[in-house]
Amino acid sequence: MDQKLDWANLSFGYIPTDYNVRCRYRDGKWGEIEVSSSDTINMHMAATALHYGQEIFEGLKAFRGADGKVRIFRIEDNANRIISSANGIKMAPVPVDLFKKMVIKAVELNARFIPPYGSGASLYIRPIELGMSAQIGVHPSSEYLFMVMVTPVGPYFKEGFKPTNICIMREFDRVAPKGTGRWKVGGNYAASLEAGERAHELGYSAVLYLDPREKKYIDECGPANFFAIKQGRYITPASESILPSVTNRSLMQLARDMGITVEERHIPLEELAEIDEAGACGTAAVASPVAEIHDIDTGVKYIVAKDHQPGPITTRLYEKLRAVQLGEEPDTHGWNTIVEGI
Ligand SMILES: *Cc1c(COP(=O)(O)O)cnc(C)c1O
Repeated sequence: MDQKLDWANLSFGYIPTDYNVRCRYRDGKWGEIEVSSSDTINMHMAATALHYGQEIFEGLKAFRGADGKVRIFRIEDNANRIISSANGIKMAPVPVDLFKKMVIKAVELNARFIPPYGSGASLYIRPIELGMSAQIGVHPSSEYLFMVMVTPVGPYFKEGFKPTNICIMREFDRVAPKGTGRWKVGGNYAASLEAGERAHELGYSAVLYLDPREKKYIDECGPANFFAIKQGRYITPASESILPSVTNRSLMQLARDMGITVEERHIPLEELAEIDEAGACGTAAVASPVAEIHDIDTGVKYIVAKDHQPGPITTRLYEKLRAVQLGEEPDTHGWNTIVEGI
């Protein structure tokens, strides 16, 4: 390291790194991989990404493990998901091999920014695809830019693995019932900002959205999936308006490995009164335990973590997933891609 980064105190902000990796789609095909040391892009002011929201992204992480090796977690799952997002909003899909090659290259080129084992920090990888054609008519772009940027991020739980409160607000939906919720589209985030900011002002860490059709079932928890533990079972919403979280899928698998029954089904709002633990899951936090869920419109408060401590199953699942990512425990499902030589 030729620079001193305070790994343990990094925020989830943006720290410039040395390189990013880019590839352009033109004339019906993807071109050569380019390495850039510039953190800006040049685009036409009439690009479809800017006017009509043709923009999708991914988020995954690389970790320096206990054995000194660098591991990227579930790269193939993210490669497949961005294809699904691309098809969802009519963008050119990035082939799985190209995605993997570019992500690995971005990690290799920025190896000096991969936080050391034990710091709790990691290298966040952000692939992004943009519609680039200059056009005013509303139709899919014919040119695309796919790029992979990385930035080191600090430990999510700086003050320890502590539960937070979340809230339910019926005034806003993040997505439509058969809309873009199942794809990782930037516009979904724009649609969630108003509710998210209100929740933060009221002291909540996130909004727990109800299904947008009937407002009867639990959908998602801001930019994370929701799960709960009820009578020793792992329950998580089945919904066509939520993003299929790689972390949630991993936690479900680890739960099954531990002999815990997993139920992916509708969760009626009232069932929150019967749950023993709850959490929000995603790449950023792995699992963020929930203390209380306040229904702002009805005034009902669901107390999940009675003594404001994370529940035992949430804690076990969180620790197990972290251990697999850090190479402390065997990777029995082949989730990690080891990047050799860095
Ligand atoms: C990215 C994202 C998640 C989490 O997915 P992971 O693959 O676990 O990081 C959950 N919900 C939404 C809306 C997301 O955009």
